[in-house]
Amino acid sequence: MDIDLARTWVQAIGAAVEQHEDHLTQLDSAIGDADHGVNMHRGFSAVTTALDDVAPDTVGALLVKAGTTLISSVGGASGPLYGGAFRAMGRTLDSPEATSREFAHALAAGLAAVQKLGAASPGDKTMIDAYAPALAAFRQRADAGAGLAAAALAAADAAEDGMRATTPMQARKGRASYLGARSVGHPDPGAASTALIFRALAETAVAR
Ligand code: ADP
Ligand code: MG
Repeated sequence: MDIDLARTWVQAIGAAVEQHEDHLTQLDSAIGDADHGVNMHRGFSAVTTALDDVAPDTVGALLVKAGTTLISSVGGASGPLYGGAFRAMGRTLDSPEATSREFAHALAAGLAAVQKLGAASPGDKTMIDAYAPALAAFRQRADAGAGLAAAALAAADAAEDGMRATTPMQARKGRASYLGARSVGHPDPGAASTALIFRALAETAVAR
């Protein structure tokens, strides 16, 4: 991972959430308040604009800027959670380039931030149910010596499997938890956006 790739990744997330805005909002209309697509699109548009004006000298500085912008531009729960994740990732990456193992460490810090802020666990039907398996897959590949692209492809597949696995879960955190048993039978919107974020990472790294 390097500064250019991090920038391209964040831009690719922006394009993906724009393309899938209606889908994310539909998922959130089933078990939430129908704003997840709008929140993600607004947040990553703001990030893309904010990054146009800066020339960070480390991968971490770029990701911290992205996170801070998400926190200040998104009102829903997902803004502080993703913003906190990007900031925590960034704080571990204080050089212009990171190996895939260093990036795995950053992804782990991001997940820890989501868990600290939102107090959700695996199985609660949140973004964590896509993020945790994605991190595990990424780390396994990176520890085995894989580069960013191979690790990110495995992570994207695991995130998508994790997102699908949220469908039969009953939500125990966030707005969807207010629905109780009626949250069963729908995929979690935040797990779906996490899958987009990891797919964007894989596509960006493969295209390099
Ligand atoms: P809001 O719920 O405020 O409308 P969004 O619709 O943008 O915010 O985001 C909803 C998503 O946020 C959920 O689908 C879920 O994945 C995630 N989420 C909500 N609360 C938590 C939490 N406590 N921990 C982890 N993720 C959460
Ligand atoms: Mg919502």
